[in-house]
Amino acid sequence: MSLIRHVAPWLLPLVVLAGSARAEDAAATDESGPSWHGPAGHLVEAAEKQTAADAQNKSLDNDAVVPPAPKPADRPAAAKEKAATPKKPDPAPTAKKAAEPAPKAAQAAADAKQDAAKQDAAKKDGKADDKSAKDDKSAKDDKSAKKEAKKPLPTAKQLFGTVKSAAPLKARAVGWYAKGCLSGAKSLAVDGPGWQVMRLSRNRNWGHPDLVALLERLAKESTAAKEWSGLLVGDMSQPRGGPMASGHASHQVGLDADIWLTPMPNRTLTRREREDMSAVSMLANAGAVDPKVWGDGQVKLIKRAASYSSVERILVHPALKKALCEAAGKDRHWLNKVRPYFGHFYHFHVRIGCPSGSTNCQAQPPVPDGDGCGAELTDWLKRVAPKKPPVAAKPPGKPSKPSGPKPEIMLADLPADCTTVLMAGGNKPPTVPAEMVDSSKDAGPVNDLTSVTAAPAPPKPEPPKPEAQKHEPAKAEPHKPDPKAPAAAAAATKPQAKTN
Ligand SMILES: [Zn+2]
Repeated sequence: MSLIRHVAPWLLPLVVLAGSARAEDAAATDESGPSWHGPAGHLVEAAEKQTAADAQNKSLDNDAVVPPAPKPADRPAAAKEKAATPKKPDPAPTAKKAAEPAPKAAQAAADAKQDAAKQDAAKKDGKADDKSAKDDKSAKDDKSAKKEAKKPLPTAKQLFGTVKSAAPLKARAVGWYAKGCLSGAKSLAVDGPGWQVMRLSRNRNWGHPDLVALLERLAKESTAAKEWSGLLVGDMSQPRGGPMASGHASHQVGLDADIWLTPMPNRTLTRREREDMSAVSMLANAGAVDPKVWGDGQVKLIKRAASYSSVERILVHPALKKALCEAAGKDRHWLNKVRPYFGHFYHFHVRIGCPSGSTNCQAQPPVPDGDGCGAELTDWLKRVAPKKPPVAAKPPGKPSKPSGPKPEIMLADLPADCTTVLMAGGNKPPTVPAEMVDSSKDAGPVNDLTSVTAAPAPPKPEPPKPEAQKHEPAKAEPHKPDPKAPAAAAAATKPQAKTN
């Protein structure tokens, strides 16, 4: 019994528990995307809650969202049995609890008990006829099989994060944006006419050839039109896609790319600079862009990207969407592809649709009609507005929903084709779990506002007053103004606006 079968059913109550939200919001949460799994509104809330939790841990790219909820029908029968394993009487049993799997410890105890009972039974029949000897043997086999099954397996991100090259197969996006892999990937050149790839150490400049072509086109056309100085390209996908060690829930099938909102400097950045340079936040506060850094260039770049037919969605922070709505004038048809979402205030996220020939690619629902500048945007701005801590404490006795680390995605959670993709070309993935560490620097601004702006955070003590913040030394790294990297220096020295 693999670990995922114990853990995966745990997701279901989380999703079921979540409250309702307008269905059209589902499209905006496409990073979690799996509206094909169930009521879309539930996923929005779940994604929101997950994002809040993530923001507390470490807010990186903040693309993070809840992984697709398991389809009840997909759960193996054995998992259902496990879930129904009798356990100690619960002081407040609920219908929801019944659907949960027995906690791991309890499960282990139950297993051990069963094993012990089998062994005892075998021992008692010490007079050993052939039959009991056989029973003894089968009990032993059972036990070793169980032990074998309990050996931890490498997670999908460990398997896919260690592959250095593309699968030498036909180009195909396999599965869902946040649960899939990529076959026949192409890498975007680290330098090209009108672009430079950042954070080269991550080896995430891979994508479906259609995505690579799109980025090359955007770079070429936006610079030729003198609308933008060039693209600083952030994360795309790993050579064979799949889950990543850091930063994203999506970007798994080679159809997503992050593009910084910082203009490209007029020179080739060194490898070191591409590791060290921080992107600049476009926000003055949670509800407004900073006109000192945000302007016509960003508007034109996003508009151009949205105008390409293969682009299905562009994700930006709600405050950026608001600025785009205000700047759009009469030509507003492109705005519906630009979706407000958590994070995405120092980069925007471009997502293309399933390419032709990618038969196992799971398409996302179409974006809703309209420019999305009305009630939906207002709603999103509320979501990202800093929350005041509630006056009254939570009434006691109300069980809080399970929190803690998200269950890891395992190879068995991905489409079966992903095993072929992983093994192609004689690749030998690790067989035991190995810690995956992304030691590259966050692409986000040094004084990241994400944790206060990107998610409705749980009640927290009041942050220090801006006065105190201003005089504090930068905590992550002391910033050395580098004349070679003006943008990085600007990001580091930019005073952070108080947001609540
Ligand atoms: Zn992204």
